[in-house]
Order: sequence, then C-alpha cells, then structure tokens
Amino acid sequence: MGPGPQYPHPLVSYYVTTPIYYVNAEPHLGHAYSTIAVDILARHMRQRGEDVFFLTGTDEHGEPVVLAAEREGVTPQELVDRNAPRFREMGEKVNASNDFFIRTTDPGHIERVQEIVQRVHDNGHTYEGTYEGWYCPRCADFKTDSELGPGNTCPIHEIPLEREREDNWFFRLSAFQEDLERLYEERPDFVQPGFRRNEALAFIRQGLQDVSLSRPRLRWGVPVPWDPDQVVYVWFDALLNYVTALGYARDEDVTDRYWPAFHVMAKDILKFHAIYWPAFLMAAGMELPKRLFVHGYLLMGDRKMSKSLGNVLDPFEVIDRFGSDALRFYCFREVSFGQDGAVSAAGFESRYETELANDYGNLASRTLAMVSRYRDGTVPDARPDSGLAADFEGAPARFCELLDRNELTQALEEAWGLVRRLNRFVEETRPWDLAKEDEQASRLDEVLYTLVEGLRVVTLLLYPYLPVSAERLLAALGADLEPPAELGSRGGGQSVDRIEPLFPKLEAQT
Ligand SMILES: [Zn+2]
Repeated sequence: MGPGPQYPHPLVSYYVTTPIYYVNAEPHLGHAYSTIAVDILARHMRQRGEDVFFLTGTDEHGEPVVLAAEREGVTPQELVDRNAPRFREMGEKVNASNDFFIRTTDPGHIERVQEIVQRVHDNGHTYEGTYEGWYCPRCADFKTDSELGPGNTCPIHEIPLEREREDNWFFRLSAFQEDLERLYEERPDFVQPGFRRNEALAFIRQGLQDVSLSRPRLRWGVPVPWDPDQVVYVWFDALLNYVTALGYARDEDVTDRYWPAFHVMAKDILKFHAIYWPAFLMAAGMELPKRLFVHGYLLMGDRKMSKSLGNVLDPFEVIDRFGSDALRFYCFREVSFGQDGAVSAAGFESRYETELANDYGNLASRTLAMVSRYRDGTVPDARPDSGLAADFEGAPARFCELLDRNELTQALEEAWGLVRRLNRFVEETRPWDLAKEDEQASRLDEVLYTLVEGLRVVTLLLYPYLPVSAERLLAALGADLEPPAELGSRGGGQSVDRIEPLFPKLEAQT
C-alpha cells in the first residue's frame, strides 16, 4: 500500500493520540468514542501512505486509585494491573489500530517524566509554596473560585469539597500568560473547533494562577527527582505520556520522528490540554503539539424500546451483535463530531437497517450478484458512465480535505452521498432490463463497470470507518486497499466473488 499519485507523501509524520483513560473507571461509550475517532484518522492517514503513530493507554497514578485500592483491600499496583487490561480490551473490541498502549506505571514513562520535570525545575519554572484551596479527590484537581459549584461542591462530581492546605512544588503557569495568548493568536487553529479555542482563550485571559506540580503525603506516583518526599501531580504525569511513549515504545527513541502530536480529547479535559500542557512544554523547552481537537459527548437520548437492543445503547452489546464497524459508523453518523448529541438504541437500529444494511450492504450484494449473473463474475472492461463520473469527480480530494480538518462527520456524509448516488444509478439504469436485450450489451458493460468502480471508490473512502466490511468488500471486488482514488482509475477485467451480506438484516439477528 504505497502513497497515491495525487497525494504526495509529505516529509512529516502523523502522530495522533487519545487521552489516556483513568484506570478507575469502567470503559464506556465515551472512551470508545475518543478511541474510534483517533482510529479513523490513523487508518485514513496510513491509507494515504503517511508515517503514522497512534497512541492510547491508561492513566494509573493519583489519589483516586489509592482510595479505590484501600476500599477494595488491594494495593494500588494490584488495582491498576487488574483494570488496565479492560481498556486494552476495549480498544481491541472497537478495532483500534494503535501502535502502542502506554501505562503511566511503565518504568520507561516514570524515568522520562522525572527527566522532563527536572528540566522544568532547572529552567527555574518551579518554586516551593503552600497551596490552599478546594480540592476534589475524584477530579484530582484543585478548583478555582470560578469553577466551584454551589456550596463549595465539585460541579462534575456534585460532592462537597474539602479545604486543603499543603506544602508542595508549584509550576509558574502565570509566567506563561503572554506566551499562551501569543500562541492562540499566531495559531488560530491550535484548538479546534473554534468555540473550544475561544473557551480556552477566555480562561487564559481571565488571568492564570500558578498550579501545583507535586503533592506531598501521597506515595502512589512519580517521585519528584529533587524532593522524593513528593510525587509529581497526576495531571502533569499523565500529560507527559504523549512525549514519554515515543522514547520507549519501540526499540529506538522515535521522539524526533513523530513529535509534535495531534491530540484528540473530550471537552472535560480541555483546560489541562489547552493551557497547562503547552505552558509546561514551553517551560521544558520543547516543541508544542500540532493541534488539539476537542470533541463533545454522546448523550443517551431516546429511551424508547428498540427491536433487538432493548432501550439502552451499550457499546459492547452493539459490537457483540452487530460488529465494531456498525458502532464506529453510528457514532460519527448520528452526532456531528465536535458537538454534543443524542444517541439511542432505536436510532442505532434505524441507521443500521436503512443505511448500512440497505444503502451500502445491499448495493454491494446486488452489484456483485449482477456481475456474477450477467458477466460470469468478470468485471467488464468499459468506460465509466459519464453522468455518474461527473458526480463522483473531485469527491476523494474533498473527502481527504475534510479529514485533514478533522471533520469526521462531514467526510462520512460526503462518502454517503456517493453511496446514495450509486443506488440511484442502479434504479435509473435498470441493469436487469438491459440484460434482456442483446443490443444493450455494451451499455450493460458500462453500467456494471461503473457500479463496481463506484463501489470500489466509495469503499476506499469508507475504509477507516468500516475497516472490517471494507476489507471484505475490496477482496470480493478483486481490489486492493490503496489511497482514495478517482472513479475510473482502475480498469475492468478482474473476477469478483459474491459475498454474504455485509450487514445482515435485523430479523436475522434476533
Ligand atoms: Zn470532581
């Protein structure tokens, strides 16, 4: 699978990350959503011949792990060793193609966190002080006055907060106020979408306060190298995973090859990624991330009963019954990537049936069946239908451009428009009627060739969303996985195979 002619291989790499997931939680749809988004981008870029590194993993230090381990009567290490594999399995289940799975308890990570934190200290961006504030042990975060809920509660966890006072090391975040403002001006797309950028910039402009870099009295973390009675504050420990992984994920250090990264995350961790993280990298004298994309939440909407899933959309049940492709498709089809939006079991089933089974699966089955029936399974060598070719023209480039801007939902819509167009083409041309008349043989050749080629082109676009089905269908079409290509870039003459339905109808599942 080499780079395609119309997308020359840039001499840069594509390094993309999910957040690392806090190991205390059970993997849920929100984690799967971030992982699938990054996987779509990673697969698409690999398909285009880019040098991709896709990182995901687990965040394993901090007080919440200590508290949970105490409750369960196990050590923190036992707790994280038990829970981390659940996230690894979640990634496998959604068919994530990550190049590495980092755990912040990896010795390679710990060693590199200490090196970088020491550099920030040596550069004079730390000092010893006393912190007093409202602390949420479940966020592992001190809340500023503007972040407090009513009655000094955590607005996320809705629990009363303790006033904590402790001696620790501070990071001079306030010293980076102007540098951060300049970053946001000079790189207006540093944070996407734009409304998230504005949110981050507003937070910076209200004035930054220094933040804790370490915590005393906590043993579960990375020891501060110059003051081993303290551990590095879990947020800095976690953020640094994006850099440390490149140092030990492979036999050689690949930091220079892949850094800087493109980070994808949900909106609840915007502040840490959009403000603390670039400031900390500046303090360490390191290059800043290429970009951050902040996505919204999938909210459980409509609870009306669905045919086969009951009334709750459980991502793992969906995958067990319908396959990972169906979940991957639904998440980005139903809710515009970047926004919050409602998902439901009934909505899933409706899109599964009308779009995956009918629009796409049935188009594939019909096309292969007609080539088999009318042309003994050999794709005719013909020219594409000019009307259909005109409607397809430029679509692969538009699709790639949308994914370059991380418009996952719009890119999918662009591809789906072509699926619909191919279905209309079948209805307009009625190949079963053409097959009845000998004098229509060359027109039938043209129609069948156009359908196979259209299906191949659209499947190359859909591959990152539907990798399992796309690979099956490409194999049946006698086609290779290659970069997105224009209609007509492959001639005919291949033999094709009939396949079992890509997306079996719901009736068959229950
Ligand atoms: Zn909280």
